[in-house]
Amino acid sequence: MFFFFIFGEHTFRKPVPGYENLVCQCFNCGNMSGRVLKSHPWFTLCWIPIIPLSIKGYKDVACHICNFRQPLENRPDVTAMQGGARPPQPGPNGAMNQGWQGAPSGQPARYG
Ligand SMILES: [Zn+2]
Repeated sequence: MFFFFIFGEHTFRKPVPGYENLVCQCFNCGNMSGRVLKSHPWFTLCWIPIIPLSIKGYKDVACHICNFRQPLENRPDVTAMQGGARPPQPGPNGAMNQGWQGAPSGQPARYG
């Protein structure tokens, strides 16, 4: 009589409130592809989550390109953006860039 218990670990991930629309730079590959996710690792038995390995979970900056993950506490630039501060990017208004696609090329914009 044999019983096979397959132990494992499964990590549930979900967006963190306040960081859903926030994209930051990945420190590994340099792309603007880092997103803040909350991770909840669970101990699994036969793929069934049994015991939470972390009560409160932890927050990571995860990159979907290189799968690099970095703890959020190591990214003070990301936490600073969450508080309503603007990311350090050039260009005062990102929405205005969409209007340029319909403008004819080669003609300078005229004002006044
Ligand atoms: Zn990356």
